[in-house]
Amino acid sequence: MALIVQKYGGTSVGSLERIKAVADKVAQVRRQGHQLVVVVSAMAGETNRLFKLAEQLSDAPNPRETDVLVATGEQVSAALLAIRLRALGYPTVSFLAYQLKILTDACHGQARIKSVECDRIIHALSEGNIAVVAGYQGINEKGDITTLGRGASDLTAVALAAVLKASACEIYTDVDGVYTADPHICPKARRLERISYDEMLEMAGLGAKVLQLRSVELARRYRVPLVVRSSFDDASEGTWVGEEDTSMEDVLVSGVTLDNNQSKITINGVADRPGLAARIFGPIAEAGIVVDMIIQNASADGRTDMTFTVARNDLRRALDQIRLVADEIGAGGISFEDQVAKVSIVGVGMRTHAGVAARMFQVLAKEGINIEMIATSEIKISVVVNSKYGELAMRALHDAFLGQLAADAV
Ligand code: ADP
Ligand code: ASP
Ligand code: MG
Repeated sequence: MALIVQKYGGTSVGSLERIKAVADKVAQVRRQGHQLVVVVSAMAGETNRLFKLAEQLSDAPNPRETDVLVATGEQVSAALLAIRLRALGYPTVSFLAYQLKILTDACHGQARIKSVECDRIIHALSEGNIAVVAGYQGINEKGDITTLGRGASDLTAVALAAVLKASACEIYTDVDGVYTADPHICPKARRLERISYDEMLEMAGLGAKVLQLRSVELARRYRVPLVVRSSFDDASEGTWVGEEDTSMEDVLVSGVTLDNNQSKITINGVADRPGLAARIFGPIAEAGIVVDMIIQNASADGRTDMTFTVARNDLRRALDQIRLVADEIGAGGISFEDQVAKVSIVGVGMRTHAGVAARMFQVLAKEGINIEMIATSEIKISVVVNSKYGELAMRALHDAFLGQLAADAV
């Protein structure tokens, strides 16, 4: 008998028909004698709908009250699944974050988990129940509802799997695994049988939303065996995310990602003196805005240009901060572009192979795509391009590094 944590995403529980199908799948595993903790997302589209309701009432909805609102989506699907399982004759108990104590900090909308108590789950399982848990939500020290960030039902599942020392954490979604690129954008993408935690971490951070970034971080830290599968297709084996092994190094590039939600800001004519980068980026950090790539040009006449990227929905706030600082430090001017995309290639094989970046740039040149910024790490290379070329760049890079011929050549 194994303890398995399963998570079903929004599309997987998107209608009553889908909830019935999920209940049948859960029941089947239960009949095999396994203990089951099932984490559910809100029904597809529900979280967006709730955010929009709040936005119709306020330009800047209060974060505490927004969490009270958007956390309800998961409460509904947890209850519906439990109702269905009970109707099928399977003892089931649903839990919300406060009933378990998924304790978080007070950062509404992006709360970080501090601890998870599973006593009630353990008790429910020991009495023969299936435990159904509402994903995405937590509570802070005061007992107020928090949410863990978009897509974070994955994180709830991994956190529970880590604490319960589950034998597997199965993430059920609308694709049958992690692909070499988003299969909805790149029709030639192939399913990966395995991917290392490090590669998955890079891919999740660079726009592959199939797994939420922090859930991968947590899975790596606690060595949670993680598998991504389809809730629509029982036949597929899915993708295992786990420790890197030596055979993975043979693969040069495991995946190509696209993040189409980027914007770029340039401050011209910044005096080239110690402390100015800190002056520029300090207030942005204090405003809770994540800066991604930063480029500082070589200085001419003691002045330099500084360019950096932020998520498109943070652009306005970042510009507000930068305009204040630019005046104080006597910068030459500010320009921005709100339609840029980040396209990246990821693979542990890059550690040991030379010339990958050069080949990437050739592929983009051949398509006539201008590279605006470049960033590299040990196992990834990212470029910023105009948004309108994002998908084209992704497909061209996929063909070059992961197409059938390319695979033969490596
Ligand atoms: P869920 O609602 O089940 O959590 P998500 O929409 O969050 O599902 O994640 C699944 C989606 O991730 C897929 O439909 C796919 O479009 C997208 N995706 C992006 N990159 C990849 C990739 N490399 N492999 C598989 N899916 C990807
Ligand atoms: N329902 C939440 C969202 O849409 C959490 C999740 O689906 O994982 O972001
Ligand atoms: Mg998701």
